Amino acid sequence: MDVGERIERLLITPLRELKVQVSIELDNGEIRTFTGYRCQHDNSRGPMKGGLRYHPQVDAEESQGLASLMTWKTAVVNLPYGGAKGGIAVDPSTLSHKELERLTRKFVDQIHEVIGPTRDIPGPDMNTNPQVMAWLMDQYSKYNGHSPAVVTGKPVELYGSRGRESATARGLLAIARQILRDVGLPLQGTRLAVHGFGNVGSHVARLFHEAGAVLVGVSDVHGGLLNEAGLDVPALFEHVRRHGSVKGFGGGRACATEDILVADCDVLVPAAIGGVIDQHVAKEVRARIVLEGANAPCTPEADELFEQRGVLVVPDILANAGGVTVSYFEWVQNLQHVSWDEERVHQELERVMAEAYEKVGQISRSRKLPLRTSAYVLAIGRVGKATVLRGI
Ligand code: NAD
Repeated sequence: MDVGERIERLLITPLRELKVQVSIELDNGEIRTFTGYRCQHDNSRGPMKGGLRYHPQVDAEESQGLASLMTWKTAVVNLPYGGAKGGIAVDPSTLSHKELERLTRKFVDQIHEVIGPTRDIPGPDMNTNPQVMAWLMDQYSKYNGHSPAVVTGKPVELYGSRGRESATARGLLAIARQILRDVGLPLQGTRLAVHGFGNVGSHVARLFHEAGAVLVGVSDVHGGLLNEAGLDVPALFEHVRRHGSVKGFGGGRACATEDILVADCDVLVPAAIGGVIDQHVAKEVRARIVLEGANAPCTPEADELFEQRGVLVVPDILANAGGVTVSYFEWVQNLQHVSWDEERVHQELERVMAEAYEKVGQISRSRKLPLRTSAYVLAIGRVGKATVLRGI
């Protein structure tokens, strides 16, 4: 891209990193101390935006990596945002509801000076949900007055946006429609495999099924299922609702979680954790298209192999940007004190995703680059330009 070494250094260096102590009293009276992080990567295009993760592996490095991914993602879909990320190193399944609330409020006490509707707007990520976002909004509002726009992913009853829950999957479907059209495959009858069955994966399975695709494999952390003839998706949802996992569903052959990554299919959607497709897995992948629902599911080595093998990879910063896009719509609604109906959310989302795909596709065709590199060219170009225009 020829941006020069100095701009390169500027773009990879986070603007601000915060590491805080989060101490709470447990229900049994004991004191427990956790560490919280917030990395704010870049704000040249607007206030910074990024999720809040509650997971034992959260640390400064992970927050840095994911914060920069948010800078590029918001730039690819042209939202007026920069990137941030953070969380608390904790296994929330070990805490009670009340302890989780105290933990969230204490974290806000520690970071409230650096977040805000015009500074940094957190949202949900792994193991955080609309309830956690509601506590965050409430605690921040104690310092600053009523501030729904400080956080997104809130419950619909408390300033959340309609359509947020399925937004990432809906964005993935919008991109899939375009890419399948470009490679000449009809969505009707396309064989789909989904790794991960949480917010992203389950809605992908449902929406693609409703659009005529055939779900031939699915897995979650407990195990996987295969059925070449297609899984009965409504019955699968009923099973998950009752048992909390896809495991044990009778309508398919049981397999290991990872087997889904190498299932015989047309489109593979990794929608669980990062780094699951390395060069060893990539060698075995049988899909023609890998649509990245998760953040960073493919390692750089896997990416290279896919390039050599002619497997089309639609990168996370384009493919899964539907979530942050509807988060942006939530922020806009909060700032204007209005509420959009679901139809409007879906239409605006389709428009944003189609525009981003078109731009990335143009770069890919004209410069003969893979989609990931093309998305980075678009994003880094936009962020670099804003940085220079504002002045260092
Ligand atoms: P989630 O917690 O709702 O679901 C995660 C799913 O992955 C669960 O089904 C879980 O069983 C499964 N899983 C966890 N560990 C696994 C493992 N080791 N192997 C196989 N499966 C495993 O999370 P989510 O919100 O659906 O997010 C999934 C991914 O998508 C994450 O990488 C997240 O950063 C990314 N993402 C989410 C959104 C969003 O709007 N939720 C937006 C963009 C990107």
